[in-house]
Amino acid sequence: MYIEVKNLNKSFGSFRASKNVSFSIEKGNLVALLGPSGSGKTTILRMLAGLEVPDSGDIFIQGKCVNDTAPGEREIGFVFQNYALFRHMTVAENIGFGLQVKKVKKDVIQKRVEELISLIGLTGLEKRYPHQLSGGQKQRVAFARAIAPNPSVLLLDEPFAAIDAKVRKELRTWLKEMIHKLGVTSIFVTHDQEEAIDVADEIIVTNQGSIEQKGTPVEIYKYPVTPFVAHFIGESSIIENAGVLKGFQATKEGIKSVIRPEFIEIGRIGEFSNPSATDKGVVSQIGFHGSSWEIIVDVKGCKLTGYRSLEKEPLQVGEEVSVLIHRLYVFEGEGTKILE
Ligand code: ATP
Repeated sequence: MYIEVKNLNKSFGSFRASKNVSFSIEKGNLVALLGPSGSGKTTILRMLAGLEVPDSGDIFIQGKCVNDTAPGEREIGFVFQNYALFRHMTVAENIGFGLQVKKVKKDVIQKRVEELISLIGLTGLEKRYPHQLSGGQKQRVAFARAIAPNPSVLLLDEPFAAIDAKVRKELRTWLKEMIHKLGVTSIFVTHDQEEAIDVADEIIVTNQGSIEQKGTPVEIYKYPVTPFVAHFIGESSIIENAGVLKGFQATKEGIKSVIRPEFIEIGRIGEFSNPSATDKGVVSQIGFHGSSWEIIVDVKGCKLTGYRSLEKEPLQVGEEVSVLIHRLYVFEGEGTKILE
């Protein structure tokens, strides 16, 4: 494994920001640290960079323990949320900064900077100052500055947060391509599940200082191991009385289960060919979801969200409907049971 983190703990006063955090990352992978605000993502990133000292635990990079290695010696590139470009330096000077600190020869720096400016698509803008650049351009410069010294690991703290929605989407595709092209092992922090799913090879889900799950976006989406993960990634309804639903009578009262909208069909009474497999429910809300209607239906006290195609006859609030549930995730003791 290229990066290995073992049992990292960090408290700020009596607040435990990291609790026994352990994970490993393969070489060249782009990994998202995903979790709600305050779940400890940035603390993990800062401990990896050496900007924060863990209370206990070990960090290995390429098999070498870096616990006692100074930040500057860890060969880590860091892209900050607010770019942190030097205001008084041009694009070229910003990108070359890390190499200058390392006392690399002037002509070597110049060549590397030219190469990177072309790589990030900003040829012609090398003499501009940060205030003369757009948010997306600044972020590209911050990226180039971080990778200029050829770091072993690239860490990015909410790299898209300060950028408006449309450019953000373009920039994240761009960043993913760049990172894969360069083959640099990278970790980025985000609280946006869509961003993590879109960009990352693997996702590490954090919650209250702990890691809830690590896996590919597909694994995390299809096989969430905790109700928190199921709820945080993708749409879902959490219920504790699934035993009242047709086909799931064996589920005990008070056990948390999750139903994803794509595993529910909601239709007019009589619309399904196998009515005995359906539950009766009442439509409580209808919203327009772009390509479909989003419908909240009350089935024996369970509030479930499902979609209905725009092609089908629209349903009405208050209407009695049939509900067919195809899949239920049950979280009982260790692991998740998928009932179908
Ligand atoms: P966000 O998305 O809001 O940045 P995060 O998941 O990255 O959240 P962290 O920044 O790691 O979370 O913070 C985790 C918790 O630790 C927060 O409650 C924060 O207030 C606290 N914390 C972080 N750094 C410090 C510090 N230097 N001193 C005191 N508390 C801190």
